[in-house]
Amino acid sequence: MGSRTAAVNNGTVFKTAARRGAMDERCIFCSIAAGRAPASIVYQDSKALAFMDICPVNPGHVLVVPREHAPFLADLSPDSGAEIFKLGMKIASAIRRTDIKCEAVNLILADGEAAGQEVFHVHLHVVPRYQGDNFSMSSHRRIVPTREELSSLSARISRSLK
Ligand code: 5GP
Ligand code: ZN
Repeated sequence: MGSRTAAVNNGTVFKTAARRGAMDERCIFCSIAAGRAPASIVYQDSKALAFMDICPVNPGHVLVVPREHAPFLADLSPDSGAEIFKLGMKIASAIRRTDIKCEAVNLILADGEAAGQEVFHVHLHVVPRYQGDNFSMSSHRRIVPTREELSSLSARISRSLK
């Protein structure tokens, strides 16, 4: 697989090993998956986890992340790809069963910087949508919830998982 350019979420760009499955010590999503960084976890199992986006486009915005560290889709095993899509579908259904405002859902995966990828560990966005929400993936218009608000949303979605 060789070396690929990757970034951490503070925008620092550097070379990192892109070995499939190798945990990257500098990767924020690997840290969350390992329980070393805080997150409002909706669901986790041996293959993948789902947690609240810290800077959501709408309340209830969830990230679905494989445990396997892969910067890009091309680095990800098909099994992990299938797992995150299956979990994304479950999370979308769960959000719809909550009282979170959700008339529709976007599943979004940015694969590469030009596609808007900022965290270089593959992840699927599950974004609740409603008419007039002025949706935009650009970070400047995003709301900044407290950890308590994120954890409350996380608990509500978790409880409605089937
Ligand atoms: P991308 O632009 O790479 O598709 O999306 C990365 C997402 O990760 C962004 O929506 C951003 O808000 C979210 N994010 C970045 N750092 C953290 C973090 O430390 N914790 C959580 N929960 N989300 C993060
Ligand atoms: Zn990672």
